[in-house]
Amino acid sequence: MKIVIAGGGIIGLSAAMLLARDDHEVVVIERDPAPPGDPAAAWDEWEHRGVTQVRMAHHFAPRFRVLLEHELPDVLDGLVAAGAHRYNPLDQLAADVRGAARPGDELFDTVTARRVVTESVVDAAASGTPGIQIRRGQAVAGLVAGPPDSSGIPTVAGVRLASGEVLGCDLVVDAGGRRSALATWLDDLGRHRASTWWRTPDSPTTGATSVRSTGPCPRRRGRRRSMRSAR
Ligand SMILES: Cc1cc2nc3c(=O)[nH]c(=O)nc-3n(C[C@H](O)[C@H](O)[C@H](O)COP(=O)(O)OP(=O)(O)OC[C@H]3O[C@@H](n4cnc5c(N)ncnc54)[C@H](O)[C@@H]3O)c2cc1C
Repeated sequence: MKIVIAGGGIIGLSAAMLLARDDHEVVVIERDPAPPGDPAAAWDEWEHRGVTQVRMAHHFAPRFRVLLEHELPDVLDGLVAAGAHRYNPLDQLAADVRGAARPGDELFDTVTARRVVTESVVDAAASGTPGIQIRRGQAVAGLVAGPPDSSGIPTVAGVRLASGEVLGCDLVVDAGGRRSALATWLDDLGRHRASTWWRTPDSPTTGATSVRSTGPCPRRRGRRRSMRSAR
């Protein structure tokens, strides 16, 4: 299949690698410029406005380490080589809280690094993967409608870039992060949303919890209003 991924962050580039390694032809569209090759230089030089937390340390859940080990071991090796810290959070606990070590504790092993380092390593691995084309400095501006299916539901036949260029494909993956404009793009196709996640204003954890709707979510005021400001 020819697949377009909107957004080249950690998720977009990791998805691209998994898909390309399954022999799909993948084009990643990323609004921001590429990181400089050296993760240390990225700290000083990389303008990555799409990810505002890019200079913060990130703790990745152990599942991330497990997935990397099984699916993208080169990324895990690259992270460690770039200085990521591999550790077990259980070892950070006071002895009377942690209790005795037990078989299986190693499942909690994880890696952590600053986001610039992680993104630089993921970008290097994706850039070297055959079958992936990463187009940076370009933004997806909308979806291209295909013919409706037999129930009249619009289908997606590609994406439209901000430059006006149209890229046809068999599948579009939205990896634009929490500020993704996907809901607006789907609105523009005819407001057929199968399901949508959004944050509730009355969330007991001040918006940190999302709820799932199986129908269309309430119309947001302002087409570009972010999930965050909708709280
Ligand atoms: C302050 C903060 C701290 C966090 N700390 C942690 C942590 O410690 N551990 C952890 O696991 N998670 C953490 N997170 C969450 C984590 O950062 C997100 O889950 C993660 O960024 C999601 O990755 P992503 O690739 O889906 O999206 P993003 O990282 O948001 O990437 C989206 C990419 O898409 C691009 N893009 C967006 N729209 C378009 C478009 N229309 N066209 C082209 N490109 C587009 C953007 O430029 C960006 O590069 C934190 C989040 C915040 C805000």
